[in-house]
Formats: sequence, C-alpha cells, structure tokens
Amino acid sequence: MSLRVGIPRALWYYTYYPFWQTFFTKLGVDCVLSEATTKQTLDAGIKDAVSEACVPIKLFFGHISSLRDAWQAGKIDVLFVPRYVSWQASTVFCPKFLGLPDMIKHTWEQMPPIISPRIDLRKKPFSLLRICNNVRRGVGGKLHRFGHAYVCARIAQWRHEKRLRRNWDPNRSINKQAQVPLQAPSDQTTVRLAVLGYPYLLHDSYINLGLFDKLHSLGAEVVTAESLQHKHKKPVRHWSKPLFWTYTDMVARAGVHALGLDADDIDGVIHLTAFACGPDATVDKLLEIEARKNNAKPFLSLCLDEQTGEAGCLTRLEAFVDMLRRQKDQQAKETAAQPVRQA
Ligand code: SF4
Repeated sequence: MSLRVGIPRALWYYTYYPFWQTFFTKLGVDCVLSEATTKQTLDAGIKDAVSEACVPIKLFFGHISSLRDAWQAGKIDVLFVPRYVSWQASTVFCPKFLGLPDMIKHTWEQMPPIISPRIDLRKKPFSLLRICNNVRRGVGGKLHRFGHAYVCARIAQWRHEKRLRRNWDPNRSINKQAQVPLQAPSDQTTVRLAVLGYPYLLHDSYINLGLFDKLHSLGAEVVTAESLQHKHKKPVRHWSKPLFWTYTDMVARAGVHALGLDADDIDGVIHLTAFACGPDATVDKLLEIEARKNNAKPFLSLCLDEQTGEAGCLTRLEAFVDMLRRQKDQQAKETAAQPVRQA
C-alpha cells in the first residue's frame, strides 16, 4: 500500500495545494486532505491553540487535530506541515507560518511523523528542486519518478495561479470545477466589489460565514485580491515602506488598485480581516486612509473571529451593497439627464 500523507485544508492550502498534491501523486504517494471546516474543526482548534492566536491559526490547529484522529484510526501515515518562509524573493510569510511545525510538534504528545521542509526560495538557485528532492526522500519516493513529478507539480501550480489571476475561486481551481459566472438579477443594477483578504479567510466558507453566496444573492459581482494584485505590479511605494509579508503585500497591492481612480469598474471595496492579526491591523488602516484619499471610494472593513455573528455581518453587507446600488443608480440618472439640460 502506498504511503498516505495528511494535508490540512487551511492556510497555504488555497495557494499551494495543487503543487504538493501533484508532486506527491506523481511520486505514488496518496494525499489525504482534512475535511472542509465545520464547527467541530473550529472548536477543536480553539481548544488546542493558544488563546491569543488569530482565527486562521486556530482553524489550522483544528484541521491538524482531525488529521491526528485520522492517524489514530489508521487512515494516514505522516503529516505534511511545511515551514513556509518565502516563495517569492521579495516577501516573506507571516511569522506564524514560520512557526507552524514547532507549534504543532509541541501541542500534542502523540503525533504522526511530520514532514516539515523549510521553504525559502530567496537565495539559492534551484532551491525548490532541492527541497522537493528532500521531501521525496522523506516519503520514500523513487528517484526515477522525481523529475516527472517535479515538472508536473510546477505546471499544476502555474495553472492554478493563472486561474486565480482570472478571478477563480481557489476551491474550484483545486477541484478542477469550472468557475460559474454570476448571473445578477436582471431587475437590479449590478454592483462590482473588490473583496480583499487572505485566501485562507476569504475562501473558507465556514469562517467567512458564506460571504460570497451572500454577495451573489445580493446581486453583487466579486473580484478578489488574487486577481487584482497583478494590476499593481510593484510594491506600494507611496507608503513609508513596502509591506514585506506575502499575503499582506498581495492585499495591499490589490487594495491600492481597487481604491485608485483607474479602477472605475469597481464600485466599492470590502476588506475581510482576522481578529488578532498584526499585519491585518496595519494594512486595514492603510487601506482606510487610501480610500479617503481617492474621492472617498466606499470601503467596508469586516473583522472575523470565532465569535462573529452571521446576522450582524449580513446586515452590514446588505446595507453596503444597497448604498452602492443607490449611488450607482443616482449617477446613472444624472448622466442620463445631462443632454436634456444642455438642450
Ligand atoms: S497573517 Fe495574520 S491571519 Fe495570517 S497567520 Fe499571520 S497573524 Fe494569522
């Protein structure tokens, strides 16, 4: 029987799972994902993680806890918890990403063997190739399969990133389900929103309280940070220094573009933040200031934690979308009235 590697459906999963899943599969290793987040996952994470951790880290602990149960039930053999330091030369991951393997190892006494490569692609050429070869050794993969597995993994990752740039939901991209374009109700003006936030908060439909479904039901079109960040290619220069955390930099660049005057196709911006996240507190304030600068483009900040109530969140979303729609209808009326006044 082939080795079974347990992978938590949290944090880096939304960005890098296609790479690792392809790599392991081509090596002949089975990937076992933790189930989608539920209340039990979150409760387990709250119980096991330190209380001051941000909610995505608590969720990560919840997913590890379920994989640990799977190991005890004989369903997986090893856990895969990489130490993500830097994937792009210019930015690094939040310190909590760096500490994940240590936090996990020191939380539970009985754990399956953990494979935790340090992923830092900043300095040496061919770093990823070397890291993958070490991972191959760790899972007992055959050397003759390595080259093919590595190339296929790079292609899978490239395709995934391409789909994200086209505004695909990462869950759909990972599961190779075609993206369904939104059909806004024909009797309402479509409102186009930039919804910014870390992928592990934005695309986990339990912790985001079904945000996308709600926005779609309100007739709003959504564009996310993964696709918008590429419209602002360089780090944000007019802030005193660029933000050097990978996901925060992505949100910042997407936010500066969406709030800017060039993005006249975007009617408003929603920033989804995680309670107890230091980088989020910084970027949220900077985006708020940015929003005030550019003709006060509507900006809504929603902070999520394990206590956030669905009803309060929905009310704020409804009010925001409603306000944007009225504003847009008003502008349309004024534009339509102009030639009449001239005549
Ligand atoms: S960036 Fe923020 S939300 Fe993400 S892991 Fe770090 S502290 Fe948590």
